[in-house]
Amino acid sequence: MKDCLFCRIISGEIPSKKVYEDDQVYAFEDINPQAPTHVLIVPKKHIRGLKEAKAEDALLIGVCHLAAANIARQRSIEDGYRTVFNVGPRAGQSVFHLHMHLIGGRNLQWPPG
Ligand code: AMP
Ligand code: ZN
Repeated sequence: MKDCLFCRIISGEIPSKKVYEDDQVYAFEDINPQAPTHVLIVPKKHIRGLKEAKAEDALLIGVCHLAAANIARQRSIEDGYRTVFNVGPRAGQSVFHLHMHLIGGRNLQWPPG
């Protein structure tokens, strides 16, 4: 989608700091990191958000989680990290292309704000 920020990042039209890529997902550093590790894991398929995902997207959502786990392992932050989908504007979703936040490298509070 040409008017979608994350589609434009995936295509390389907008620069990003790539962390990982395969045929299904693209991962890159968040531009406004909330922790020492703050990576966004994005399916290459444009899906608006979790509530718009369909049964056929289930595997892709799992792939995002496993990519996050692999990145966390590579960065040695397995003592504590969080994977987050912000869903809808009241939860802070500001980009409407499905993305998982991988946040770690510091103590994380619970419940989140
Ligand atoms: P959300 O608020 O859950 O929709 O997450 C969107 C995230 O995208 C935020 O954490 C932003 O800091 C991040 N972001 C926005 N623009 C860019 C960009 N050009 N490169 C990297 N991250 C971005
Ligand atoms: Zn998109």
